Amino acid sequence: MNRVFNFSAGPAAMPVEVLEQAQQELTCWGDTGASVMELSHRGKPFVGVAEQAERDLRELLAVPDDYEVLFLQGGATAQFNFIPQNLLGSASSCDYISTGQWSLKAIAEARKFAHVNVAASSESDNFSSAPSQSQLQLDSEAAYLHYTPNETIGGVEFGYVPDAGNVPLVADLSSTLLSRPLDVSRFGLIYAGAQKNIGPSGLVVVIVRKSLLGRANATLADAFNYEKQAAAGSMLNTPPTYAWYIAGLVFKWLLQRGGLTAMAEINKRKADKLYQAIDASGYYRNPVATDSRSWMNVPFICGDGSRDKAFLEQSEAAGLHALKGHRSVGGMRASIYNAMPEQGVDALIEFMAEFERVSS
Ligand SMILES: *Cc1c(COP(=O)(O)O)cnc(C)c1O
Repeated sequence: MNRVFNFSAGPAAMPVEVLEQAQQELTCWGDTGASVMELSHRGKPFVGVAEQAERDLRELLAVPDDYEVLFLQGGATAQFNFIPQNLLGSASSCDYISTGQWSLKAIAEARKFAHVNVAASSESDNFSSAPSQSQLQLDSEAAYLHYTPNETIGGVEFGYVPDAGNVPLVADLSSTLLSRPLDVSRFGLIYAGAQKNIGPSGLVVVIVRKSLLGRANATLADAFNYEKQAAAGSMLNTPPTYAWYIAGLVFKWLLQRGGLTAMAEINKRKADKLYQAIDASGYYRNPVATDSRSWMNVPFICGDGSRDKAFLEQSEAAGLHALKGHRSVGGMRASIYNAMPEQGVDALIEFMAEFERVSS
């Protein structure tokens, strides 16, 4: 059976080279005579895998030394709850920017612990744009400002990093981390569930400025206390070792391809040509403001939407997998993360042109 071009939003396509390497060393890793997933997380071989992955991630993102890199579990959704518990300290309020479904979920969790000031919301335009810096109503006393740089469902992306002054900036980068270079020093904390652009689900990467540690809620489980996990090298309890190993292979794959500057060039080209095809068609439509269009998730509908079902059936049959939009918005969504080759985007554009031709 041939591999499809997989446009799934997550768990998403993995680089085939990574899967092949994992397959090759599945039963015997190195000279251990065992699979990576059978090794003790505290043994020298796995600790080597774990430390190499962290070094490579630090190199890819040029993570400054005053930041901890944590490999945790529970996905991004659990972090929505753990972030206020780790960062609020004695503050009673935090700022959130609301740009779509993931922002709303993060806000709902934060409201369990503090007053949430919604610094800006694009709900009135149906979450089809990101607010500008001048629209942000920031509170200088807030414990932190949280935002979602890329809304995976709506395909809305910030074209800038908000300036929160002295308030630490927290970002849910689940669907865009590693798609291009990032100035980590602008952030107090960034986090990303792995299953979009890093590796298998079950793993979440948290990168946090050391000076923000030490203010966690005393009732928070130790396994989700960033300070305690940092002190334990993310091994306070058994980490998702196999996912961590696969993430390490993905980091190597990215470094071999020239790192994030090279990925940015390819990702921009992929997104540009897909939006161009949509805009030029007069048949397909993307609802997002031009300056807020995501490089990673491209939602679109056909004409009046009545042919969406046919589009999805026929594209699937043509080897273009998982183009169905999120159940909350319908239509189509092409997720074109790092692992989506440019040929996959070309194949989609070609399919779209042919579908339009026979439909109109
Ligand atoms: C996928 C996603 C999440 C949720 O991730 P889980 O691992 O399912 O908890 C949160 N935020 C964003 C931006 C996402 O894309």
